[in-house]
Amino acid sequence: MRAGIHPETKECKVTCACGATFMTKSTKEEIRVEVCSECHPFYTGKQGKAKKTGAVEKFNRKFNYDAEATK
Ligand SMILES: [Zn+2]
Repeated sequence: MRAGIHPETKECKVTCACGATFMTKSTKEEIRVEVCSECHPFYTGKQGKAKKTGAVEKFNRKFNYDAEATK
């Protein structure tokens, strides 16, 4: 690399919304991301699972909970 034309890089801590953290190199010291290799569907193989929690599922959960409570 040519000296003097590149920004200084330092150890950077990346924090994901899922709680995972990992180190990388960046001009910043800390980066926050919403998805990482720990939680992105492409890596976890659970694609679409989060989307299935819809209104019907919420209703069914509530219904089952109420049914259990009134036994
Ligand atoms: Zn993540």
